[in-house]
Amino acid sequence: NNLPICDPIRTKAIMNRYLGFAKKNLGQNFLISLNKINDILDAAEIDGDDQVLEIGPGIGSLTEQMLLRGAKVLAYEIDQDLPEILHNELPQKIGDKYLDDVFKLVMKDILKADFKADIGNFFDLNKPVKVVANLPYYITTPIIFALAKSDLAFESLTLMMQKEVAERLCASSGNKEYGPLTIFVQTQMSVKMAVMVDHTNFNPQPKVDSAVVVLKPLVQKVDVGDTDNFDHVVKMCFSQRRKTLNNNLKSLVKDSEERKKLLQMLDLPEKVRPEELSIDQFIGLAKALKAE
Ligand code: SAM
Repeated sequence: NNLPICDPIRTKAIMNRYLGFAKKNLGQNFLISLNKINDILDAAEIDGDDQVLEIGPGIGSLTEQMLLRGAKVLAYEIDQDLPEILHNELPQKIGDKYLDDVFKLVMKDILKADFKADIGNFFDLNKPVKVVANLPYYITTPIIFALAKSDLAFESLTLMMQKEVAERLCASSGNKEYGPLTIFVQTQMSVKMAVMVDHTNFNPQPKVDSAVVVLKPLVQKVDVGDTDNFDHVVKMCFSQRRKTLNNNLKSLVKDSEERKKLLQMLDLPEKVRPEELSIDQFIGLAKALKAE
């Protein structure tokens, strides 16, 4: 078979042969553009030395191209119909290596992954691991949280997601996309909007356009003080987006005079809105509230 799996004709043939149609409830939208896949793998800087953890290989569109670049791939998949397809459709030999030497499928919900145990001795854990995925969109944020909190230090995460979520990850203060997710991610990782992918590049086509974001753990993590306190304060500050920070703070500081003093102490205008605060200002606010 000379066509790559992601070629629209080959994808269609695979879908007709095995499944009939993709499973919407599992967020199955298969990439059908080799150009876009190459853009994604260039953004992830995938080459022959890489160990890649993939989430949701589907019928192998991205997986195949990573293997052809010489990468070793461990993929988490939940759909029990897919192992047969992947094993039949992925190339049986890549250079002088057999598929089983360079590809491992873990049939597990990514949200229940135990990365170190699942990787076993398939990857050399003294070397970096990259994550590459066209995410199942129904669980985009839980997956980002799970990866950020994982016991494995990933070198980078190259993730395709709904464009709206990508914009939230990359937002800067003052924008309407800026919020708790932005702050959670940007205190731990650098973010870069890498590739825009409109809905025509998939079969079936999703309703929304997509974007690829490259995340890299910060060498020096931002010190937010007590993490639980920080996360809680940020969440409360955005609980009513349209209202002022002062208003949102009512549930944390009941007394209006005290709130006024707090804002003054932090050099914040009385009518400031939560999305106008920089991450540093949120850290200052959370620390001041904890000290009270
Ligand atoms: N990588 C393929 C591509 O780009 O064409 C498929 C991407 S598709 C958007 C998402 C994939 O994630 C599907 O194969 C789906 O079955 C899988 N998936 C959905 N929920 C999952 C979960 N909880 N854990 C692991 N994989 C999941």
